[in-house]
Amino acid sequence: MPDNVPRAIAAPLLTWYDAYARDLPWRARPGANAPDPYRVWLSEVMLQQTQVASVIPYFEKFTARWPSFEALAAAEDAELMAAWAGLGYYARARNLLACAREVARRGALPETEAELLGLPGIGGYTAAAIAAIAFGRRAVVVDANVERVVTRLFALADPLPGARPRIRALTDRITPDARAGDFAQAMMDLGSGICTARAPRCLLCPLRAQCDGFATGAPELFPVKAAKVPKPQRYGTMFWLERDDRVLLVRRPAKGLLGGMRALPTGPWADSPPGLTEAPIAAEWQLFDAQVRHGFTHFNLDVALAAATIPAHTDAPEGEWWPIAEIETAGLPTVFAKAARMFGRMHA
Ligand code: SF4
Repeated sequence: MPDNVPRAIAAPLLTWYDAYARDLPWRARPGANAPDPYRVWLSEVMLQQTQVASVIPYFEKFTARWPSFEALAAAEDAELMAAWAGLGYYARARNLLACAREVARRGALPETEAELLGLPGIGGYTAAAIAAIAFGRRAVVVDANVERVVTRLFALADPLPGARPRIRALTDRITPDARAGDFAQAMMDLGSGICTARAPRCLLCPLRAQCDGFATGAPELFPVKAAKVPKPQRYGTMFWLERDDRVLLVRRPAKGLLGGMRALPTGPWADSPPGLTEAPIAAEWQLFDAQVRHGFTHFNLDVALAAATIPAHTDAPEGEWWPIAEIETAGLPTVFAKAARMFGRMHA
């Protein structure tokens, strides 16, 4: 269905919400008087990175102990942090207190998204949710649940995260002027209980008739996620040069990968296996079949291992001659430590 066809989404969704809304301690019953802004704000901050079930006991504890902005604003920092312990993401608790103090100073929580956005710990989503739920303002509220429902309703083929502006525009289109708070909460409830990520329960859904995703027969394929770009593959060689039961270690150049770290000598990281290029000394190098694999943030590395032994007192390249028996104490970065263990096994 083309996007410019208006959808009869809000009416059936709100009817469904009136009958099946989740009973949550911070909620007013559907259609009832607006809920206490303090409770809406507190719940929205607690829910920012935490599941509903985990939030409920903290919400009950906080509202029993601090039932208003003024009460919370008067709390000691340490007291509040201790009460928050276990909920995680502690910056939220610090912002919660700063916000409560600011609201207590002003006398009330502001009602518009724009003003809410200026308060500590309130980002775009939270500002929209509070404006809609606490104050009945028309606001476009898009959380992960809403994102999933909307991409399915419109069978949106654009992959995330690039599709977000489009999802927001589509949510804007279906958000009603009246009961915007109930609409937002209804979308969240639908996403959490019916239009679930893996197995949407379309037969129970009040929006089935309007849903393009359902019509495709495979709504669970939405939202489409962008394919991960494969990391480039690089190759290298590490050199294990032994002399007198010691192995040569060098400092890596200060700039570049693992800069300044103690390491085995290496050749270049190249697009194809570099073999013995840049071996630290001309010797009878033995190149092993075994490889070390390691994933860096920006590329994957396959490293070949080469070993040689030179007689004691041979002039040798600069570096540290580390006792092989104590190689674990050299503080080698992981990829070199892996290689050292492999050399150790090959020499055992
Ligand atoms: S019909 Fe199915 S896919 Fe569409 S919104 Fe409802 S539960 Fe989600």
